[in-house]
Formats: sequence, C-alpha cells, structure tokens
Amino acid sequence: MSALFDLSGRVAIVTGANTGIGQAIALALAGAGADIAAVGRTPATETRAKVEALGRRAVLVSADLSSIESVDRIVSETLNALGRIDILVNNAGIIRRADSVDFTEADWDAVIDTNLKSVFFLAQAVGRHMISQGSGKIINIASMLTFQGGIRVPSYTASKSGVGGLTKLLANEWAAKGVNVNAIAPGYITTNNTDALRADPDRNASILARIPAARWGDATDLGGAAVFLASTASNYVDGHILAVDGGWLAR
Ligand code: NAP
Repeated sequence: MSALFDLSGRVAIVTGANTGIGQAIALALAGAGADIAAVGRTPATETRAKVEALGRRAVLVSADLSSIESVDRIVSETLNALGRIDILVNNAGIIRRADSVDFTEADWDAVIDTNLKSVFFLAQAVGRHMISQGSGKIINIASMLTFQGGIRVPSYTASKSGVGGLTKLLANEWAAKGVNVNAIAPGYITTNNTDALRADPDRNASILARIPAARWGDATDLGGAAVFLASTASNYVDGHILAVDGGWLAR
C-alpha cells in the first residue's frame, strides 16, 4: 500500500456495516490497514470476521440510528474498544417508495431521521472528538439524488440532497481544524436498497440503458473512493461529493 493511502493504525467507524455498501467500505478500509467499529442495529458479525481475516481489529457497536439517542455512546464505545477515532463513514440509510400524492408522514419522518438527522448528530459527536485531536476524515454517503430529483422517493431525495449541503457546511466549518468532510455519491449499486428497482424489468432496463459503464455497480466499486477520502491522499479535499456511478451523471 502506498504511504498516501495507508490507513495502518487508524480507526474507522462505519455505520450500517453489516451489508451492502457499508460492509464493502469497511472491508476496503480494513484492507488499507484500518481497525473498524461496525455500527448498526443488525450485528455485523460477517463483517467482523472478514475484517479480522484481514488482520485488523473489529468491534460491533449496537445502535438504532432512527434516533440520535446512541450517538455519544458510539463515540465512547469506539474509544474504549479501539482507543481512537480517525474516520467516520455515515453510511446507514433507508428508502421508502410511493407516489408523492400518497406519501405518508411516517415515511417522511423515518427516512429524514435516519438519513439526515442521525448523519448530522453522529458527525457532530465524532467531529467534536476529531476537532479536539486536530485531525479526522468524515465521509457521508450521498446519492445520485443529491444531484437529481428522482421519482416516488420524496423523503429520500430530500435527505440525500440535505446530505450534500451538510457535507459542504461541515467542510466549511471544520477544514481549518484538520477535519476533512466529504461525500461519496454511489450510482446504481446492487444492494438491498435497490432490490425493488431490479425486480421491475422495465425500470431495470431503463436504468441499465442510461449507465455509460453498461452495468450496475457492485458495492466493492465504492472501496477505492472510500480509502482515498479516508487517507492523507485527500488532505486538501474538502466538501467534495465524489460520484462513483459508472458515468451516470455524465450522461
Ligand atoms: P442496504 O444493503 O439496505 O444497507 C443499508 C444499511 O443501513 C444496513 O446496514 C442497514 O441495517 C442500515 N440501517 C438502516 N436503518 C438503520 C437504523 N435505523 N439503524 C442502524 N442502521 C440502519 O443498502 P445500501 O445500498 O448498502 O445502502 C447504504 C447507503 O448507500 C445508504 O445510505 C443508501 O441510501 C446509500 N446509497 C445506495 C445506493 C444503491 O444503489 N444501493 C445508491 C446511492 C446511495 P439493517 O441491515 O439492520 O437494515
């Protein structure tokens, strides 16, 4: 591993690390040398085993991010178990689909609470610690719907557009304090989050036809961007939203 991308001795908190993009990013960071605090409501036992197989430490932190009740405990449990915090990946997220004329307040609140409110307050709790140590890397997981409107996902689009704005705001406040805040905007990636799209043959075909790379992304496609934004290679990158989308936004 080039020294620029070496994460040896660093500790990363990854939310929603039991599956999909969160698991892939946790394994990429561990592959670059980081120890992992895997945060989520479903124990990331498979991720822990895979991190340990890479020779790194992994701890599970149980937390339901539909509320912010656990954010301070996530910081203290990680520090107690792994001794430091260098990287936060705000990955946990949900999506609810319905026509806007039928969309419920419950589906609005559930998505905004998990995808936006918890992202901010966990960044705040971890950011306070990073500011006090004078260094840190925060990576928020955004979306194509940080840039575009989408259809039938009003709370998801609002949350991910909010994540884009929040990423820039936190970068403005914290860049001079040694904390880099950036985001990764995945394109269409084969995970639980997109099962419904692939199950609809027409929607699946129209999505595929628009992707210049001519394939859905795999969660492992996000690993390189995560290692870059977690490493010293990105020390002068602040408030950037890095699309990893097979060219979707270029079309
Ligand atoms: P996923 O497989 O459904 O993973 C979502 C993760 O978030 C799971 O680990 C899930 O845990 C966790 N999570 C959800 N609600 C939670 C809660 N209340 N408390 C704690 N953890 C919670 O989907 P994914 O595609 O990997 O999604 C990861 C992130 O990427 C999300 O922010 C998503 O919006 C974003 N994203 C995905 C795509 C895509 O094409 N797949 C594109 C753009 C952005 P459980 O297993 O316990 O539910």
